[in-house]
Amino acid sequence: MKILKIDHLGIAVDSIDQGKAFWTEVLGLPFEGSETVEAQKVTTAFFPVGESEVELLESTAPDGPVAKYIEKRGQGIQHIAFRVENVEEALAELKAKGVRLIDEVPRLGAGGAKIAFLHPKATNGVLVELCERSG
Ligand code: ZN
Repeated sequence: MKILKIDHLGIAVDSIDQGKAFWTEVLGLPFEGSETVEAQKVTTAFFPVGESEVELLESTAPDGPVAKYIEKRGQGIQHIAFRVENVEEALAELKAKGVRLIDEVPRLGAGGAKIAFLHPKATNGVLVELCERSG
C-alpha cells in the first residue's frame, strides 16, 4: 500500500454555516463550497490547507454517523484521511494483515473520491479513512 499524504482531517460540526466562520474568517482559509452525500447522511465542506484539507461534516439526519458521533463525543475531529494510490489494493493488504475494516469495498465520497474506513478498534481509537482521487 502506498500512502501519499494526509488528504484531509474530518471535523464533525453541528452546523457548517456556523462552524465555517472560524476556518474562513479567523484562519483565512478558502471555502470551496459544500456537498451533500445522501448515502452517508452528511454534508461536507472543504477548506484547502497547503497539500491537505480541512473537511467539516454536518449530519443531514439524526441517525447519521456524524450525528451519532457528536451525540457521543461532541463536536471535534472525527476522522483522519490518508490519500492512497489505490484503495482496493490497500484494503486487500489490510485485510490480509487481519485489520478490521468498516468498508470491505470502497464507496463514493465527496468530490467523487473512492473512500473506505478502517475500524477504530483496529487503530487505537482513531477513525481512519483511505481516499483515492483521480485528480
Ligand atoms: Zn473524510
